[in-house]
Amino acid sequence: MNAQELIGLEERYGAHNYHPLDVVIERAEGAWVYDVEGKRYLDLLAGYSALNQGHCHPAIYKAMCEQAKKVTLTSRAFRNDQLPLLYQELHEMTGYEMALPMNSGTEAVETALKTARKWGACVKKIPAGQAEIIVCSNNFHGRTISIVGFSSEEQYRSGFGPFSEGFKRIPFGDAQALREAITPNTCAFLVEPIQGEAGILVPPDGYLREVAEICKANDVLLMVDEIQSGLGRTGKLFAYMHEGISPDVVIIGKALSGGFYPVSAVLASRAVLGVFQPGDHGSTFGGNPLASAVARAALKVVVEEKLSERSAELGAYALERLKGLKSEKIVEVRGKGLWIGVELKVPARPLCEALQERGVLCKETHSTVIRLAPPLVISQEDLDWGLEQVEDVLR
Ligand SMILES: *Cc1c(COP(=O)(O)O)cnc(C)c1O
Repeated sequence: MNAQELIGLEERYGAHNYHPLDVVIERAEGAWVYDVEGKRYLDLLAGYSALNQGHCHPAIYKAMCEQAKKVTLTSRAFRNDQLPLLYQELHEMTGYEMALPMNSGTEAVETALKTARKWGACVKKIPAGQAEIIVCSNNFHGRTISIVGFSSEEQYRSGFGPFSEGFKRIPFGDAQALREAITPNTCAFLVEPIQGEAGILVPPDGYLREVAEICKANDVLLMVDEIQSGLGRTGKLFAYMHEGISPDVVIIGKALSGGFYPVSAVLASRAVLGVFQPGDHGSTFGGNPLASAVARAALKVVVEEKLSERSAELGAYALERLKGLKSEKIVEVRGKGLWIGVELKVPARPLCEALQERGVLCKETHSTVIRLAPPLVISQEDLDWGLEQVEDVLR
């Protein structure tokens, strides 16, 4: 079938909850994707950072195929021989004592929220039904009813109420606002170290450090959503590491599978994740052997191919280059590592379409920001070519 026919089927039979660029991808490798007509494109979105390891990474592919031949799902009613090794490797890599595996990022965030409330009830002794969780405006943590209930984005909420109670929203990047919002019933503060969907918003230097101190002083769990910022994207394994803090809870997903399969997890200390008793929480697919084998291989690629270091180096180069660009259209260029937002005075969509014409894929966020987040395995040469296209279109 040709592209037009495939697009027609999708429009006719699929719910219209996305507005994709009309490029119909058939295969991909590394930083490149190929459409059904054989045209190739440089991928500067990388599956919203699920593809830090690049498309179809051979080592992850091999792990997935080998595991798929053996056993794919046991359910947590039984044990399997992959999950314990994933736990151990996550521990060795991150220092966190325990993990709780789920599938999508949204589910991991929900799990973190449940963890915080359970901890509030069992450890902090917050009266039943009174626990409060503080979040930031312009957050993006997923799409469940609880999560969109505390979003400040009207479209994410509109028509989906009623919502869950117990959430309080404060401005992002404002530590004083956190200090003022905390009450004796606050169990957690949930924050993205850098707000991706909001347009790669980088908070002031020292913000996370200050927030960590405030949380500690008030016996409030600091929970960082590293689903998009983590696993190398910002030039460190996790974005919180730029400020030398140790959050109580770290939420990961996306690149945890290198784009092969939905795998997510919540990382925390024994004192926090230890609140769960058998039957309190679960998932049929969470921690399955296929997911665990894929995640183990995906993590190994992050370390062995030094993806954090690559991101730091290539990102600093790209940021400086784009900051030097003279264009009437640009308001600001910002970011960390290979995660760059170009905020425009004009709508970003037509520019993304112009880039598509030139063989570069990226996607606007919040209508006036172009997000540049290539796979971290991208070569210097390909990055240079991609940046040239972006620069030409912006001029
Ligand atoms: C993508 C994302 C999520 C949701 O992950 P899904 O896998 O789409 O459910 C949550 N938080 C952040 C910061 C994200 O970027």
